[in-house]
Amino acid sequence: MRTLITGGTIVTATDTYKGDVLIEDERISAIGTSLPLPADRTIDAKGKLVLPGGIDVHTHLDMPFGGTTSADDFESGTIAAAHGGTTSVVDFAIQYKGETLRQAWEAWMKKAERKAAIDYGFHMIVTDLPESVEAEMDAMVAEGITSFKLFMAYRGVLMLDDGSIFRAFLRTAGNGGTICMHAENGDVIDVLVRRALAAGHTAPKWHALTRPPRAEAEATHRAICLAEMAGVPLYVVHLSAAEALEQITAARDRGLPAYAETCPQYLFLSYANYEEPGFEGAKYVMSPPLRAEGNEEKLWRGLAGNDLQAISTDHCPFCMKEQKELGRNDFSKIPNGAPGIETRLHLVHDGGVRRGRISLNRFVELTSTSPAKIFGLFPRKGTIAPGSDADLVLFDPAKKHTLSAKTHHMRVDYNPYEGREVTGKVDTVLSRGKVIVENEKFVGKAGAGEFLKRKPRS
Ligand SMILES: [Zn+2]
Repeated sequence: MRTLITGGTIVTATDTYKGDVLIEDERISAIGTSLPLPADRTIDAKGKLVLPGGIDVHTHLDMPFGGTTSADDFESGTIAAAHGGTTSVVDFAIQYKGETLRQAWEAWMKKAERKAAIDYGFHMIVTDLPESVEAEMDAMVAEGITSFKLFMAYRGVLMLDDGSIFRAFLRTAGNGGTICMHAENGDVIDVLVRRALAAGHTAPKWHALTRPPRAEAEATHRAICLAEMAGVPLYVVHLSAAEALEQITAARDRGLPAYAETCPQYLFLSYANYEEPGFEGAKYVMSPPLRAEGNEEKLWRGLAGNDLQAISTDHCPFCMKEQKELGRNDFSKIPNGAPGIETRLHLVHDGGVRRGRISLNRFVELTSTSPAKIFGLFPRKGTIAPGSDADLVLFDPAKKHTLSAKTHHMRVDYNPYEGREVTGKVDTVLSRGKVIVENEKFVGKAGAGEFLKRKPRS
């Protein structure tokens, strides 16, 4: 099967040029101008950008949290992702206390197999680290689960103590894996939460008021120091606060392999959203929380200057009805998370590229190329090159549309960006050579996504 995409503007992390892309079966086989080649199918990309498919390395599909489960499973979530121009996700398998890592991996494979419409991989969340599990970390890297996520918050549920974190770091330094860190000082937060509740503060905004930026900065700093002592690369997930970014910048200035992602919610929303009337603030209850207005410009500068290397979503949707409502009388019981798997490229293109904060090439780098490189998917994913998977997005940079729960495909009853008009829209999406979104309709297949066995660090 040969597919030819003609007349588009090809954009990679480094180049922008007019060209045709030839796809044979699942891969790109040639790029040129006016390729005089016969094809089974020709797609006219005139006036459109041809981008490598988005890679979202932070999603939580079908994830249990606080007595409920995130509202998108691997089918609805990956279909929504495809509508938003994302063709690969790296989700998180969670090892619960007493479980082996393999058990956790198998449990999450069951959730994804026959459901995922795009390719998927897993980071492994380690919550329990006896010596037997430490040894298993090497086996996971060999299986293509080459990153481990650890928590410095949520004591008693997900959090590891510093000693266990350090042992996991040492092990990962030796096995070619990468560490993903949820960096917030959980013990400080727990004290502040208890005090707020004791004082009768139950509204959603107290979620943010009990998670100060300095609690994020302190944990980020501590994680950097532990990683430096262990000699392991560190990737801080969902960095939200400028104070935490300062720690990453300082570490990078010292030459350490410290990386961090941020998410659209920290670029386009702020603490002011928690002040929305009634219980509306619950829509934005996520950890870390939204920060004060003005913080976002510092994150944009970090993205432009490569102190931040990726934009992922932390997609973890909970409906207002019956899910967020669990915390109507107690902010600490509001499930943490918000939807975003579908809106990432649209928001970042509009607010980043069109507003002149980042270049088109940097946009591709932050949403596809750089996460692919950091997490062992490049050059199979993350670029447009002969031999790479034909994961491609045809993007109309001039088309206006409005983000809304009425039209989105995520299985959640609100959109944090409701009513926001953006310019630039995903038009056609290919996953390994197959068209999966066409004329804004999903034409792919649930279950067509494959498990991504990722490479260890070289
Ligand atoms: Zn997360």
